[in-house]
Amino acid sequence: MRATLGALARHLLPGSCLLCGADSENTLLCQACSADLPHQATAVCPQCSIETSLGERCGTCLKSPPAFTRTIAAFRYDFPVDRLIQALKYSHQLPLANWFGGCLSEQIAADEHDLLLPLPLHPSRLRDRGFNQSVEIARAIHRRLGVPMNTDCLTRIRATPPQAALPLKERAKNVRGAFECTVNLSGKRILLIDDVMTTGSTLRECARILELHGAAQITLAVVARAQRH
Ligand SMILES: [Zn+2]
Ligand SMILES: [Zn+2]
Repeated sequence: MRATLGALARHLLPGSCLLCGADSENTLLCQACSADLPHQATAVCPQCSIETSLGERCGTCLKSPPAFTRTIAAFRYDFPVDRLIQALKYSHQLPLANWFGGCLSEQIAADEHDLLLPLPLHPSRLRDRGFNQSVEIARAIHRRLGVPMNTDCLTRIRATPPQAALPLKERAKNVRGAFECTVNLSGKRILLIDDVMTTGSTLRECARILELHGAAQITLAVVARAQRH
């Protein structure tokens, strides 16, 4: 299945499952493949969604609490969700953004959030890719839940090397000062949206800026959360 996913993505037949090719009644994945996806464990840190033995707060959040109070994650960042996210980002499989947004929407209470903010890309990265996957996912959530969304007030002012290329310790330093917010968020309950949360350094830094601009509550919503193995 690993080798063929890319090929399937390129030759996707309408009405067939992206992963196995079976008839999926016009949804991206058939019921069997959907049920097999690596869903989040129930015992996770309530703040950053990393797996903990009894669902207690993790050491990292205890030692240096992030500005966000909760992370909603639809999946673990494991096969085949990792391939699906890569297909969205690098093979422009935009229907996946809508599908991911649907999965996340099921876990989001619309009346608990005032504003959806997708994690911005730096303009140079946006030019290269042609779209921001987080904006597309946020749009799908906005369409379903009706929570207002803003794609202008939060910007990435510094192009940073991709986090994946850096050792863990360097990641926090790498994103320091990378974001700017141009509006007063006083009293607003923010839902910050991204595709993948790996170490969380980028989302931590972004949430710190939102808090500085007055956000009353910050919740993260990510399609997939990487777990330590
Ligand atoms: Zn399938
Ligand atoms: Zn945590």
